[in-house]
Amino acid sequence: MSQPPTLYLARYLLPVHSPPIEDGALLVDDGRIAAVGKRGALCSGHSGEVVDFGEAVLLPPMANAHTHLELSHFPRWSRGAPPLRSAADFVDWLLYLIGIKKGVGQAEKQASLDDGLDQCLRLGTGAVGDILSTPALAPRYRNSPLYGRCYLEVLGVYRHVWRKSLADVTECLEKEFYGGLQPGIAPHSPYTLSSEALEVVFELSQRRRWPATTHLAESAAEWQLIRYGDGDLVRRFYPAVGWGHYRFRSPCCSPVTYLRRCGGLRPWNLLVHGVQVSPEDCRQLAEQRVAVVLCPRSNERLGVGLPPLTDYQAAGVRLALGTDSLASSDSLSLWDELAAARRCYGFRIAPDKLMAMATRNGAEVLGLAGEMGTLQVGSGGHFQVLPLASPPPLSELVEMLCSQGHRLPVASLYLNGEERLQSPTPLS
Ligand SMILES: [Zn+2]
Repeated sequence: MSQPPTLYLARYLLPVHSPPIEDGALLVDDGRIAAVGKRGALCSGHSGEVVDFGEAVLLPPMANAHTHLELSHFPRWSRGAPPLRSAADFVDWLLYLIGIKKGVGQAEKQASLDDGLDQCLRLGTGAVGDILSTPALAPRYRNSPLYGRCYLEVLGVYRHVWRKSLADVTECLEKEFYGGLQPGIAPHSPYTLSSEALEVVFELSQRRRWPATTHLAESAAEWQLIRYGDGDLVRRFYPAVGWGHYRFRSPCCSPVTYLRRCGGLRPWNLLVHGVQVSPEDCRQLAEQRVAVVLCPRSNERLGVGLPPLTDYQAAGVRLALGTDSLASSDSLSLWDELAAARRCYGFRIAPDKLMAMATRNGAEVLGLAGEMGTLQVGSGGHFQVLPLASPPPLSELVEMLCSQGHRLPVASLYLNGEERLQSPTPLS
């Protein structure tokens, strides 16, 4: 249904690809952005509807490029379980996650996914890169106005296991019932799939044009496995999950080089975490135009270290941000993730670049370039509005949003020109 042209006004407009505008205005016509500029210029000659948000900032929605929304009720599921010991490491956490997930039925996962999708909207998120390990739940995305990509997970080191997993995922991906989300495939990680499985999945992903996402170079345990064929994953993880007979043959290289040899470094494939990487790895990623999603809160919780921001930027790797799941993070808010990134990465990255990671880059890596992530003529009418109790000077706006934005409520989220929060409260 066609919508009348509406002019949205706010004290600040943040287009992301260009500097912020004071006394900004955004004209949305039939769900698309028709004009962006100063209030004075756009108001004259506009006879349609006007929504004035007053002392507020209007900017593109957040793009949460890595999450597992089916785990949104993880804190509830884990309530009765013995807590992780205080010196827990990455492998302890993996086993803890698997143990709890095993006891959860499909109906609970469905409620958890539905809730996660709702939470994203309330937190100002317009697009997600969501990993789903239960293909039967894929139709649930149809109920959500979110954009982005649903990556169906493939996992297993033994041939009969990953082949069955891949067959289920392929069958589901061919049905195309994801609503606003596009289909993708998630070969889980180099430690949960054999090299043969990785090669087969990446080849299929290329042939069927299903972009892939993979957890890579997250922990020292993974690095130890790939570089030396040894460590905690071999000694503790494989026996505990029934893979005790699996023999990982070390390729004696970095996780990034290993993934390239398995066919996993293709343009627009999305790697997640990328903590244990060298400057040479960063150069390979940039050369292959592979993007990396950083998840600072998850890295912090699991004690795996920090990604090399300076090397990534020097090499020109496209970076986005993700919350990961509520099994390793406190919220699905990308505003919280942005504040954590500001705190963890400090001044190794400029605030406008960090803001772009949370909005424009995230949308781009999820296949939404030109549609979402910036406020420019021709893009979809996608934006969020945050009220500013005490507006900072224009020159401090972006830094304030990076470090303090998580304390501001999201008052409105528009997708395709339609308000998507249940109780929109325009400020004036
Ligand atoms: Zn993850």
